[in-house]
Amino acid sequence: MLRIVQVYPELLGTYGDGGNGLVLKERARRRGIDVELIRADMDDPLPAGDVYLLGGGEDGPQRLAVALLEEAGFSRRVANGAMVFAVCAGLQMLGSRFSVQGDDEYVGLGLVDAVTTRAPSRAVGDLMTTVGASTMVGFENHGGETTIGAGVEPFATVVRGRGNDGRVDGFRAGRIWATYAHGPVLALNPWLADAVLAESLGLSELAPLPSVADRLYESRCRALTKRSAD
Ligand code: GLN
Repeated sequence: MLRIVQVYPELLGTYGDGGNGLVLKERARRRGIDVELIRADMDDPLPAGDVYLLGGGEDGPQRLAVALLEEAGFSRRVANGAMVFAVCAGLQMLGSRFSVQGDDEYVGLGLVDAVTTRAPSRAVGDLMTTVGASTMVGFENHGGETTIGAGVEPFATVVRGRGNDGRVDGFRAGRIWATYAHGPVLALNPWLADAVLAESLGLSELAPLPSVADRLYESRCRALTKRSAD
């Protein structure tokens, strides 16, 4: 049984990233994989999971989510091998420090050597990146910019938009994957949904699962490539 845990949707559900859980569940189900999508409510103990999904959220709720995850022993779950796929506020929370409201600085979960400071302007709009040979499309909406430590591998290279800093987006530290892309990003990028699914199942890859999502992905890539060239 693959247990996918959507973490605190009340706090980290502002940008529709709950769709990532639905996509993972459905792509697993269509392949005959036994799967469960579990909602972790902030008032309940953190459910056991094979993959934890952290979404985007507002500044206050993301601080509360850090405190709750600390209390729930989230870092231990990750140390014991659970996978994490995080978006935006989720990404910032995994780092050692973040500053999103004024100049106040908050301690993050410290699972990855990454620090988020407040950018001079908010990044709102399309985010297009490359992850190896694949194109990732999404949108971003955040006031922070993130610096990853020298030994940390970025998740993607930015083609359009800001991501962490206008050059790279997110990070990949073992089984902790993080990006600034909303969308939900796994609905927009079926290849990435399958990469997350494969990693959480401990497989190197999955057989393709053609669907309308592939056609929508191709047309989104074409539209953004054209706009970038204009
Ligand atoms: N609150 C964070 C910021 O503005 C994250 C926003 C988000 O998750 N989209 O930087």
